[in-house]
Amino acid sequence: MVRIVAKGISKVFKRGRVVALDNVSVIIENGERFGILGPSGAGKTTFMRIVAGLDVPSSGELYFDDRLVASNGRLIVPPEDRKIGMVFQTWALYPNLTAFENIAFPLTNMRMSKDEIRRRVEEVAKILDIHHVLNHYPRELSGGQQQRVALARALVKDPSLLLLDEPFSNLDARMRDSARALVKEVQSRLGVTLLIVSHDPADIFAIADRVGVLVKGRLVQVGRPEEVYEKPVSVQVASLIGEINELEGKVTNEGVVVGSFKFPISVQSDKIVIGIRPEDVKLSRDVVRDDGWVLVGKGRVKVVGYQGGLFRITVSPLNSEEEIVTYSDHPMSAGDEVLVYVRKDKIKIFEV
Ligand code: ADP
Ligand code: MG
Repeated sequence: MVRIVAKGISKVFKRGRVVALDNVSVIIENGERFGILGPSGAGKTTFMRIVAGLDVPSSGELYFDDRLVASNGRLIVPPEDRKIGMVFQTWALYPNLTAFENIAFPLTNMRMSKDEIRRRVEEVAKILDIHHVLNHYPRELSGGQQQRVALARALVKDPSLLLLDEPFSNLDARMRDSARALVKEVQSRLGVTLLIVSHDPADIFAIADRVGVLVKGRLVQVGRPEEVYEKPVSVQVASLIGEINELEGKVTNEGVVVGSFKFPISVQSDKIVIGIRPEDVKLSRDVVRDDGWVLVGKGRVKVVGYQGGLFRITVSPLNSEEEIVTYSDHPMSAGDEVLVYVRKDKIKIFEV
């Protein structure tokens, strides 16, 4: 286990024309599962590479516990001395090596005796329940076993830190679920500090205790996943971490008005955007008597789709082109007039 401290890390490429990381400061605690969420090009891989020691920060400092490992363009501790295991996008195994040889691969450059290598490979193979297939070639393994071998290879050096860069993006949906569960289970068994970066919030929700949101090289919010989901600092963060409806509202004395909708909230600023997640909207033909839900007005159903056992419904105020998407288990038809309710305490207000 190790505690990672990044202090004001910036990274520029092309003589400063590309700023990949902009003054990133974060502490990843001992044994923590930390996720970095960000769109493509945000700087996630750059941060990973700096933590791994494959690249150096242009400015700022990186500590592993109290040890300075890189500082202002200087590599102080090289990757091989950082006790890191890595899994990248592909989970690719060497097809011409057995599972055993694949797992042992990181140890072969380490001047380690054959016995010691065998002991280590068998130990990690037991933990991952693949000790009975160590003589198999990758093509003789199931998808799940291949994942386990790739993970075993990352863990065989007994790392203090496990780095995962978009590890699930090339897996199909079912494999992705099992791989997420596997990573989480193995992490908690070994207690290793874990850093995962992904553009997919589902990866972060499945694994991380805390998440940092990276946008254009800046860490704009850090918190527990549900905190970031419920209280995003900006519309952009809100939409990165889950689907959200954005409505441009007119601020009045009685609330925020969007066409025929009126949101009964008071706001200070006069230029705002309302954010409301699909699950915090309810459409009904009849009046809903439930204190949690407030009526914002009448709307007209625009589009109805069917998705995963639910109807995905787009509704607009009667006299405006703004749209709200929500899900319902009742079918509705385009053109229907409905009452639109929202969960009052879930309305998000962003100043723009
Ligand atoms: P992510 O992993 O979040 O998609 P990256 O860290 O790969 O983002 O890239 C962040 C930014 O830095 C991008 O604009 C990318 O083009 C740029 N970048 C990354 N590596 C290099 C490099 N070696 N040379 C020049 N630009 C780079
Ligand atoms: Mg990347």
